[in-house]
Amino acid sequence: AKSEGKGMFHFFSQEMNERNMRRAALENGMRQGLGRGEFYLHFQPQWDLKSFRLTGAEALLRWQSPEFGLVGPDEFIPIAETSGLIFELGELVLHEACLHAARWCRICPQMKIAVNISGRQFRQPDFLQTVERHIEATGVPPNSLELELTESVIMERAERNIDTLRALKKMGVRLSIDDFGTGYSSLSYLKHFPIDAIKIDRSFIAELTSDSDDAAIAVAIISMARSLKLKVVAEGVETSDQLHFLAGRKCDEAQGFYFATPMPAEEFENYIREFCGR
Ligand code: C2E
Ligand code: CA
Ligand code: CA
Ligand code: CA
Repeated sequence: AKSEGKGMFHFFSQEMNERNMRRAALENGMRQGLGRGEFYLHFQPQWDLKSFRLTGAEALLRWQSPEFGLVGPDEFIPIAETSGLIFELGELVLHEACLHAARWCRICPQMKIAVNISGRQFRQPDFLQTVERHIEATGVPPNSLELELTESVIMERAERNIDTLRALKKMGVRLSIDDFGTGYSSLSYLKHFPIDAIKIDRSFIAELTSDSDDAAIAVAIISMARSLKLKVVAEGVETSDQLHFLAGRKCDEAQGFYFATPMPAEEFENYIREFCGR
């Protein structure tokens, strides 16, 4: 048993080593890739469920690396956070998103582009100025820009965050809480934060029509959002059954593979031309 334990330990440490090595290699690759234009955005449409109108899109970061292939944000965002590369990457995302939003809201006035903001990025002392700078540089109408923050990022240092959120609201940008339902369970804080929308995490949507607990949670989130006068968006909608369930419960908007997978900017522009104003 003793030697078996040692073998296990050896196995784990080897696996950990491999993970650390991939991490270090990815970090290096990202650093180079930033200068080589290997990062770009995809856009996933969001639809209003009452009027069946296209309302906007979420910007999702992609990395096409010559060495690692297409790497997903779930893998490289955490590395960007610990290495500090998130600041440069976050600015790239903000800039690209604002540029596209400025252009697209001329084709489709109700168009808004949602951007994911990581915790470290949000906590940066000059975050407000950064957002302001990109709004000014691109001329985007501030209410065409939406910032998505997770529950846990907002709840961490809640008092200080309220000031930042208020300042962002003053600028005119929209704010939403991402992955709602997965973080802190205290709902009472919601009324203190100047937010516009909450996004029901896709883990509750996946089994919506087969798991009565998930259905109950989704319904509770929708009704709570309505009474707090917040817009509610369901993410990860994949089937027409899920869509009908949500529309029947008066969920405001939805996003997911049912409508479209995230797509390159040129493709989304065609999508806008096809669907906006219909
Ligand atoms: P998220 O903000 O929850 O984004 C939604 C994720 O769900 C996206 O994964 C999207 O492609 C995926 N998705 C959309 N519809 C469906 C569906 O119907 N079914 C399923 N199974 N999945 C769906 P993606 O693009 O891989 O992004 C993963 C996460 O990486 C995002 O989760 C977000 O937390 C983070 N991320 C992406 N882009 C950025 C960024 O620019 N900055 C930061 N800080 N984080 C980002
Ligand atoms: Ca998001
Ligand atoms: Ca989400
Ligand atoms: Ca999620």
